[in-house]
Amino acid sequence: MTANWAGRAATVVLAGATSVALLAGPALAAGPVVGAPTAGDPYFPLQGNGGYDVGHYGLTLDYRPGSGQLTGMATIDATATQSLRRFDLDLRRTMTVSSVTVDGRRAAFAQPADLRQELVITPAAPLAKGAGFTVVVRYSGMPRPVTDPDGSIEGWVPTEDGAFVVNEPQGSPSWYPCNDTPRDKAGFDITMTVPDGVTAVANGVLVDTVTAGGRTTYRWSQPRPMSTYLAFVTTGVFRISTGTTPAGIPYLNAVDPSQAAKSRPVLAKLPAMFDFFQSLYGKYPWNSGGALVDNAPEVGYALETVTRPEFDRAPDELTLAHEIAHQWVGDDVTLARWRDIWINEGFAEWSSWYWSEHTGQATAQQIFQRLYATPAKDTGFWNPPPGNPGSAADLFAGSIYDRGAMTLQALRVEIGDDSAFLGLLHDWVQAHRYGNATVDDFVTFTEKRFPQLDLAHFFSVWLYQPGKPTGW
Ligand SMILES: [Zn+2]
Repeated sequence: MTANWAGRAATVVLAGATSVALLAGPALAAGPVVGAPTAGDPYFPLQGNGGYDVGHYGLTLDYRPGSGQLTGMATIDATATQSLRRFDLDLRRTMTVSSVTVDGRRAAFAQPADLRQELVITPAAPLAKGAGFTVVVRYSGMPRPVTDPDGSIEGWVPTEDGAFVVNEPQGSPSWYPCNDTPRDKAGFDITMTVPDGVTAVANGVLVDTVTAGGRTTYRWSQPRPMSTYLAFVTTGVFRISTGTTPAGIPYLNAVDPSQAAKSRPVLAKLPAMFDFFQSLYGKYPWNSGGALVDNAPEVGYALETVTRPEFDRAPDELTLAHEIAHQWVGDDVTLARWRDIWINEGFAEWSSWYWSEHTGQATAQQIFQRLYATPAKDTGFWNPPPGNPGSAADLFAGSIYDRGAMTLQALRVEIGDDSAFLGLLHDWVQAHRYGNATVDDFVTFTEKRFPQLDLAHFFSVWLYQPGKPTGW
């Protein structure tokens, strides 16, 4: 993610952030249990669920931009990790569920008001631990944007010609039922029907389009494991262009006509960016690349949606580089908990600095030095330290980006050997492909690799010490 305004104000406090009770009791004599209604992340305690692991989402959607009506069918393939008599999906109550089946049999379900985004499902028969099962949820409603603890909006954001859909960190259940934790990665096939003249763009490759009766259906496929917050299907009037990078990565760009002229010179650099970050981090993890540029300035940020980052307006060059780098750092290697946001943002921001250096613009060290000149008394610039934002309201604070990227640049200088530093980043990504990682995982990974350096002190200063880092 990259904010398009200076200093996202932390004005809203998440109420009751620590008060969600675990409903899952101890198993009675190893009988089937109730899956937990949370994945246990204190920043977003309603997110995610326990008792199963999703392998694939098939979303069949129909959107009418005029009325704002979304109708959906979600087919979710999962494996039970506990013996379950009941389990939850995450879905906001603005979406009304009309039926649920589990393995083809009608299941009881509820959307309790006090649980806010839980779809509680009781299958006709308990699910055995280790068994694969398929849930089909039919639902409809008028999805509304979600407001985050930092005051920003996400989820399903209606535009003049469709909807701009971005989900980090908690927008997904506003438009599809899911196990909304970054740790439950799955493949996605998204099918969207819209009125003729409107285009639907989602993750992955466009499999086909079918037009009938004044409406067109777009089928998109992205089979690799990705986190739920990185799924999207954005609709509107778009100019589509396709190509293949010199290194062989296919890409598809979708650009709102109002942003076409301003986007053109920046998007001309997109193929070289994909190839550059592939040379840095290793083989491109997804089946397509590209970018989507919409006209949705009320959103105020860009997001690294898998395969095809989304921009609420024509991006500048370093924002485009940041979001493309995220395809490896953030999307392939993903934070394990939200407090680990540095694993995503510090790395993507540093990557954009390295692109600047690579293309003969300011070097990463020059950018570091310019930012390091910020006085210590400017505490809003230096805090919170990037290793621990402290609360969901500070998840995307400027320091997570600026000081977060400075941490990696300072590490580069500390290591002193560029090939050793770049090898560290490459091997970090390769060691966590399609996985999740914590800040501590990176610290441990690095300390093991450079035992001769006093990195415990270095990391404690840069990642955790409040205020301007000194004496590392
Ligand atoms: Zn980002």
